[in-house]
Amino acid sequence: MNAIPNDPCELAPAHIRAIAPYQPGKPITELARELGLEPESIVKLASNENPLGMSPKARAAIEAALPELHRYPDNFELTQAIARRLDMPMEAIVLGNGSNDLLEMVASVFLGQGRSAVYSQHAFAVYPLATQARGARSIVVPAKDYGHDLDAMARAIEADTRVVFIANPNNPTGTMLTADELQAFLRKVPPHVVVVLDEAYNEYLPDELNYDSRAWLGRHPNLVITRTFSKAYGLAGLRVGYALCDKRVADLLNRVRQPFNVNNLALVAARAALDDAEFVRKTQALNREGMRQLEEGFRKLGLAWIPSYGNFVAVELPRTDGASQGAAVYQKLLREGGIVRPVGGGYEMPDHLRVTVGLPEENARFLQALAKVLGKES
Ligand SMILES: *Cc1c(COP(=O)(O)O)cnc(C)c1O
Repeated sequence: MNAIPNDPCELAPAHIRAIAPYQPGKPITELARELGLEPESIVKLASNENPLGMSPKARAAIEAALPELHRYPDNFELTQAIARRLDMPMEAIVLGNGSNDLLEMVASVFLGQGRSAVYSQHAFAVYPLATQARGARSIVVPAKDYGHDLDAMARAIEADTRVVFIANPNNPTGTMLTADELQAFLRKVPPHVVVVLDEAYNEYLPDELNYDSRAWLGRHPNLVITRTFSKAYGLAGLRVGYALCDKRVADLLNRVRQPFNVNNLALVAARAALDDAEFVRKTQALNREGMRQLEEGFRKLGLAWIPSYGNFVAVELPRTDGASQGAAVYQKLLREGGIVRPVGGGYEMPDHLRVTVGLPEENARFLQALAKVLGKES
């Protein structure tokens, strides 16, 4: 008989043990405990959260739903509301516990050992996680000017490729692909390969740059569009997102979906948030102003950044004796009570820090801390 190790962890599949854990933005409460700071003195611009909080309509809906929390949730109403808003059949919509959940569902359905997924260098961290967890192979395509190189991605598709992940705009680079580029890509991808178009930041795009990917689903039933209530709608803590896709794809996603994956409060809050166009407009305006403020601050500090179409921006720190400074500056900022996101490691951007656009006073405090850390206080 073969000797079986006593340790169950050693028997976990090698592809699971090889996963590098996700590094979330540091919570305010954790930094407060570590440094003995008041939570109010800390500025967190690390997780692309909406600095305005959530829509007051969503809050009211949550309060109204509290007496019903002993009931299991029902996805029907939110699905119907999204269907009406987007003029889509309900059967083409799948709800997720955050859009992260939908990325995992796509991976569960279409990936596995002996299959591969294609995604870009510097793309969203969940693509490698979802791929690796299924024992599938990652084909990581080098970025072009920090953005997705769609021509190279199309060429990188191999015989065993079943999924391509694209984030538009991408996190953490903030880069964006045009509708023409995306459509040209869709025409090149073999029809048996699923293309996930992750539009987590879609609501931040100015009207003149926005595009209607829904219209492409008819010609490309291999397209899966994902969106979220976590960013512009300000509901990150509730976890709710949705996918738009072909009905047959939706049917498969629903088979691996946990039966009650989106909770009651998330459903009613998202339902209310969807109708609060005013809140989304305010969010967009605040983001535009905040982005200008951060860019102006970086310019004054002599720093470069990657022009961003999201609610965050990757700022580049000059090297010291050839060595990248992202990690060191991140640590120094923490001591000033400023939390941003280091993007060395898995994102392979050790010279950058990702900064979420905050309220004007938060942006100002962050820029002040950055100036101090860089020895450029005026
Ligand atoms: C934040 C983000 C998501 C998903 O967030 P959820 O909270 O799970 O909806 C998906 N894709 C990208 C690119 C993101 O930045």
